[in-house]
Amino acid sequence: MAYSESEIIANLKTISQRVSEACVRAGRDAGSVKLCAVSKFHPGEAVEACIKGGQFLFGENRVQEASEKFPVIFENHPEVKLHIIGQLQTNKVKNAVKIADTIQSVDRLDLIREIEKQAAKLEKIINIFLEVHTGEESKSGFENEDEVRKALTFIAEGNAPHVVPRGFMTMAPFTEDTVLVRKSFVILREMAENLRKEFPQFDLSELSMGMSGDFEIAVEEGSTMVRVGTSIFGERQY
Ligand SMILES: *Cc1c(COP(=O)(O)O)cnc(C)c1O
Repeated sequence: MAYSESEIIANLKTISQRVSEACVRAGRDAGSVKLCAVSKFHPGEAVEACIKGGQFLFGENRVQEASEKFPVIFENHPEVKLHIIGQLQTNKVKNAVKIADTIQSVDRLDLIREIEKQAAKLEKIINIFLEVHTGEESKSGFENEDEVRKALTFIAEGNAPHVVPRGFMTMAPFTEDTVLVRKSFVILREMAENLRKEFPQFDLSELSMGMSGDFEIAVEEGSTMVRVGTSIFGERQY
């Protein structure tokens, strides 16, 4: 069921409260975690409700849907930023680059080449997160640290001047087993720690991890950005 405007605003408050509490448990600054509101399958009105609640960062999975929903939102609220978080086909990159501030779901070198090509045409800088496959069940993401290293090396060698790597993203496996979920987040954090040392020329500070079902664990393991949909907007009607 979709929520009303006041329910959405109340949900935002509850989530930032829970994020703050997880920060306290982990001895972290409450302001060190950003919330990306995942509005996929929810209408523009739900996004508008969120904005009234003070939320300006949104995530969408599908470029087509985001391209229908967000241009009017950008017109009314120039401060809104959109992140693409879903698997991205090469032929969708052109439109993704038009609307997105950041592409979080960068999972292969060819995608970086295409983002560079399209961003150069628009003379736009695109931030990216490298998505890493850390769990058993999820299939997207670079397979291992070495693949991520190759992608960062490609950028470091000057091949993608319009692409700025900002950090890493992962999805934990969908399971009740919190040990497995936590393990997935730890893998991403440790990989990030290694790669930050190897690529000091980049600011790779972002760790995008944690969704409705697991964001508190993610915060305890160092997440700097949680991507929450259902707990804000309600169940999606596919
Ligand atoms: C849908 C989605 C989310 C949000 O999931 P919820 O469980 O609804 O919070 C986060 N990240 C990605 C990559 C998604 O596709």
